[in-house]
Amino acid sequence: MEFLRRFFTDISDIICPNSCISCGCHLKAGKENFLCPNCWENYEKTDFSPDAENLIIQSFKSEGINIVHGYAFLKFDKKETTQKILHNIKYFRHPELGVKFGRIAALKLTELGVFKTVDYILPVPMHPEKQKKRGYNQAEKIAEGLSEVLNKPLKLGVLEKIKNIKSQTRMNKVQRRANSANAFKANRVGELSDKHFLIVDDVFTTGATLETCAKVLLEAMPECKISIFALAKA
Ligand SMILES: [Zn+2]
Repeated sequence: MEFLRRFFTDISDIICPNSCISCGCHLKAGKENFLCPNCWENYEKTDFSPDAENLIIQSFKSEGINIVHGYAFLKFDKKETTQKILHNIKYFRHPELGVKFGRIAALKLTELGVFKTVDYILPVPMHPEKQKKRGYNQAEKIAEGLSEVLNKPLKLGVLEKIKNIKSQTRMNKVQRRANSANAFKANRVGELSDKHFLIVDDVFTTGATLETCAKVLLEAMPECKISIFALAKA
């Protein structure tokens, strides 16, 4: 029996590898863990202080936008574990890993005491056509995990993506800003005008997308407050 069990485990490993998404070692605990214990211990995190002006708060300030809090949990390094985590969430169809990291990040945020006064969590929206193709919006999945642990409601539809813009992966900040201008719209502004929104995205690269979203909300609701969370800072 043991022989048969091993045999079928090996076969299923070949068809669908039971290995750590970062270092590739065999996962004894099962592939739903994504990472081996060593990689779970050692993935790269930011050392952002919520009180000091971290890179996200500074970036917004340089654009003339004052935000309440800004935070990124992971430090994105190419070829490192964080890249594997983000690629699995975004490109390799593992939305559940996004939810999982939303929850993990929220535990850290609770410990730091940030985002306490947030009223609603707004994930950066995806254009409906693109979302249909991918099957899910990764920012929404991360926001779901945050919402559960921070105990703050998720509000979809307040921010809407109205233009299906080109991928920004290879663009600089000026190009990204031009690309994302007029791509978003704010809805239901009357009833939410003085609320505190936490805008959530997967990666903060130049900040152009998150800044555009913040500007759209502030233009529609000058009394609202904005906080920013990105799962990773590139
Ligand atoms: Zn590993």
